[in-house]
This record gives sequence, C-alpha cells and structure tokens, in this order.
Amino acid sequence: MRLWRCWRYGLLVNELRARPERPVLSSLPTLPDLPTSATTLDPAVLIPAPYLIQRAGWNALPLDHTAENENGFFSEANPEGWRTYTEPLAQVYTTAVIHHTVIYEGDDLLTMQEAQRLHQQDRKWADVGYHYLIGKAGAIYEGRSVTVRGVHTAGYNTGTVGVCLMGNFMVDLPTAPQLQALRLVLGWLAQGLQLTHLASHRQFNPETLCPGDNLQPLSAGIGR
Ligand SMILES: [Zn+2]
Repeated sequence: MRLWRCWRYGLLVNELRARPERPVLSSLPTLPDLPTSATTLDPAVLIPAPYLIQRAGWNALPLDHTAENENGFFSEANPEGWRTYTEPLAQVYTTAVIHHTVIYEGDDLLTMQEAQRLHQQDRKWADVGYHYLIGKAGAIYEGRSVTVRGVHTAGYNTGTVGVCLMGNFMVDLPTAPQLQALRLVLGWLAQGLQLTHLASHRQFNPETLCPGDNLQPLSAGIGR
C-alpha cells in the first residue's frame, strides 16, 4: 500500500484545454511522480522497459479484421475500425486506464487465451481489447499492440492505454507481485508515452464494476 500513497491528485487544466480531442475527466488523479513531458526527462533516469511476454508466448490468435464491432480499418467513414496510430504515440496517449479480467482460468496463459476469445468471439472485436495484462505472479503480457487503439473503455478508447490485472477484484485482492508489476508498467508507460493521468475503468464508465472494489482505490488513488 505504501508505494501507492505517493499518488496524488490535481487538475492539469491547461493541458486538458490544449488537448480538447482527448479524453477528459476532471477528477482523474495525475501521475505526479513520473516525468510528464519531454523537457523533464533525464536520459540517465529513463525507466527501463519491463520484461513483456509477447503474443507468441501466450499463443495469441491472429487478428480478425472482419470482426463485426471493430470491422476493417479506421477511416473517416469507419471511425470504429482498427486504428493504427500514425501520430507519435506520445502525442496520442494521455491516460492509463486500469481494468480487471473478472475471469481467471487457473493459470495466466489460459486466461490470456480466454480473454482474447471472449473479446474476439463474444464482443466481436479484432483482438483482445487491452494493451497489457498482468498475471497473478506479476508476469506482464502484451495484449494488442500499443501502436493500435484499444477497445477497453467505451467512448474513451482513443488516447487511453488499457492495463488489465487478471482476477475478479470484486472478490479477490490483487497480489503484491501484481501491484508491483502494475507500478512498473505504469512508470514505464507514463514516461514513454508521456501520460499525465491514471484512471480506473469505472471513472469513465460508471455503470461498470471494473476494476472491482478491491482494485478501485489503488487505480483511482488512495484517499478518494
Ligand atoms: Zn474494465
């Protein structure tokens, strides 16, 4: 818990005004302990990339560009299509959004495969919707490429990076290694993508229970 007490809150009003096309929630906590702009980066303290288990490592299925709800490729005529960002990613992303899988299939790999199956077959998306997933022992898995828009937060997918912890945190507690891995991922993403905000899924979509009552305080900041 102590690691999380350093998260604090605030409004980056000027930044948000300067980026009107980006997702905005005035109550989101900021990422104050991490560099938030290129001018604050010191190459000597760049945060190294955490070890990622790539798609081949969990036997990901191929992308399905015929998927009904993420059909074809993004264009003005097809705003819900598969969108590969053409801008520098640091200009696209502002916010990390935290989720839980709800499901756990007994081990991480089966959970990755089932999460992808649910998203492709049931939700009719081209791929698993999240960018990164974190297993029970803190292993970090690559979901869909971070160069591609996620499908994880209705209405706010453009410019938000989806980070999902395995488990149902309405019932379970996230493990200490999961939280440690989450912090590693968030630090790395915040620096690399120049993120300014951290949010839980339900802050954007209040009708969802995600990421569960037991993860919500850690996602939205201690003391809210
Ligand atoms: Zn969610």
